[in-house]
Amino acid sequence: MPELPDVEVYRRELQSKALNQRIAAVDVKSPRILGRFPAKRFIDGLRGRRLTGTQRHGKRLYATLDGGGVLALHFGMTGGLRYFAGEDPEPAFDRVRIDFENGRHLGYYNRRMIGRVALLDDAQADIAARELGPDALDLDPETFRERLAGSRGAIKSVLMDQTAIAGIGNIYADEILFQARVHPQARTAELDAATIRRIHKTMQAVLKKAIERGAEPERLPRNFLIPRREAGETCPACGGRIARVAVGGRSTYFCPRCQPKPKSPGRSRKR
Ligand SMILES: [Zn+2]
Repeated sequence: MPELPDVEVYRRELQSKALNQRIAAVDVKSPRILGRFPAKRFIDGLRGRRLTGTQRHGKRLYATLDGGGVLALHFGMTGGLRYFAGEDPEPAFDRVRIDFENGRHLGYYNRRMIGRVALLDDAQADIAARELGPDALDLDPETFRERLAGSRGAIKSVLMDQTAIAGIGNIYADEILFQARVHPQARTAELDAATIRRIHKTMQAVLKKAIERGAEPERLPRNFLIPRREAGETCPACGGRIARVAVGGRSTYFCPRCQPKPKSPGRSRKR
């Protein structure tokens, strides 16, 4: 499932390979991926233009167009982006393919069709309209603390709340809390300042490392939980067993030994 590191890898690919080439043709194979945006308008809006820059915010990717406007990409659960040459096979489940004059293509694929491709006037307006919080990589410790302040839920749910912090989904939330040694069901309001600082630092380190490794689970360092996200698997830190719980309805993996459940201070005082 694409989260911030995956989308950042797509952005870098787009930025390094697909800019400043004239778009010769656009094939909208699944018009439903455009939502209500008419396919003809989408194609006419891209043909003859060039992508001139990229921007990512959380899990959303934007490519600016010469002459104004942006191509907006959201990947949902199963989406992705591939830049490929004419002789290469097309990615499976590609929904939109942009053909450049140099014979290269940009394919947006999405098996389950959750996600959107659109042409918009402005990326900043889209980010504001969606009420996205600051990007998780572009967030200093103080702002992070402020975004968490007043949250009543479990820390994992708050990390995944895109209006609080943009970019983290189910998989990286588990990774961050595992490496920060914080129980996913810990109440955010009960975390002390040192723990919040540790989560912030870990969050940025985990995201940066994942980007560096191409967001590929098999290339992640051995101390990462992601390749072992399964109940009964061995904890890469202590050798104990990975457990599964539901947090906010999402499957959550953690090590009960490395991430002990915090004692509720309120309750223990009363008894
Ligand atoms: Zn452990």
